[in-house]
Amino acid sequence: MAAQMVREWSGIQQFPAATQTKLLELLGKLKQENVDSLTILIMGKGGVGKSSTVNSVIGERVVAVSAFQSDTPRPVMISRTRAEFTLNIIDTPGLVEGGYVNDRTIDMIKSFLLDKTIDVLLYVDRLDAYRVDNLDRQIIKAITDSFGKGIWDRAAVVLTHAQLSPPDGLSYEEFFTKRSESLLKVLRLGARMKKQDSSESSIPVVLVENSGRCNKNDNGEKVLPNGISWIPNLVKTITDVVSNGSKGILVDQKLIEGPNPNAQNKIWIPLFLAVEYFLVKQIRGWIKSDVAKEFKPAWELRDIGAAKRKF
Ligand code: GDP
Ligand code: MG
Repeated sequence: MAAQMVREWSGIQQFPAATQTKLLELLGKLKQENVDSLTILIMGKGGVGKSSTVNSVIGERVVAVSAFQSDTPRPVMISRTRAEFTLNIIDTPGLVEGGYVNDRTIDMIKSFLLDKTIDVLLYVDRLDAYRVDNLDRQIIKAITDSFGKGIWDRAAVVLTHAQLSPPDGLSYEEFFTKRSESLLKVLRLGARMKKQDSSESSIPVVLVENSGRCNKNDNGEKVLPNGISWIPNLVKTITDVVSNGSKGILVDQKLIEGPNPNAQNKIWIPLFLAVEYFLVKQIRGWIKSDVAKEFKPAWELRDIGAAKRKF
């Protein structure tokens, strides 16, 4: 591959010294494990803070953020180098449109990723969302169908808007635990993980606060209500995922064109179609006989009777 000019990660200098030191330490550790580049894929619904998280981590305003129409129309890869380490972050459009998972967006993301290896998936949602629903499950299913179940071994859940006061007298930790558990449960369902699959319990959940009003500690680092300085914590989680012994996901032509990586169940499709065919036939038969035996209202019977009497 031709050598590409990758910009220096100068945004790191925006961070307070304590954060910079921790980040360089983490990258140094990865280099000791012979990892000198990382490709991080960011996915989730629209407006949850994907692009803001990219900007926060890079330390520059590299992708557009907006409170309304907050979407990146297509995937964008931001690459930065620092101390011979390359960080690639791929920001993507929201996966939901008009209440449904947008398959075209997923296809577009897949094509964009051709020949790239996803080292880590950050699945982004908001901490201050109180419900998970079937749509969340559909999103997880769509990601699983596109990239295979193995993507979840390489995933972390990111919850933005983490500077909040929990409702109903819950402590911050209790609220965080409840929100994480409900999201991980839906994730397990959408990814069709079995209880014994280790992945579910090991998918880390990390908190992020992108707002400029995020509290800071004495070192000037952005901290959450639980006292954790979140930027180094997010990067630490990412490096833990990379070192967890699972493999990155290579997006090759085969993965893009399918067959669906989880489609072992496809052998049942002809059977389902046959059952459906006979079911439809049966239902049609029922409707036909119902129409034939249809209850006739009194006036109609009376008219029929009257007509009969006439002849
Ligand atoms: P995306 O569509 O997922 O990329 O979301 P954006 O990053 O464009 O963010 C949508 C809106 O949420 C913008 O107004 C952001 O300023 C705001 N936002 C994003 N993350 C946070 C966060 O952690 N805290 C707060 N308070 N606002 C956020
Ligand atoms: Mg965006």
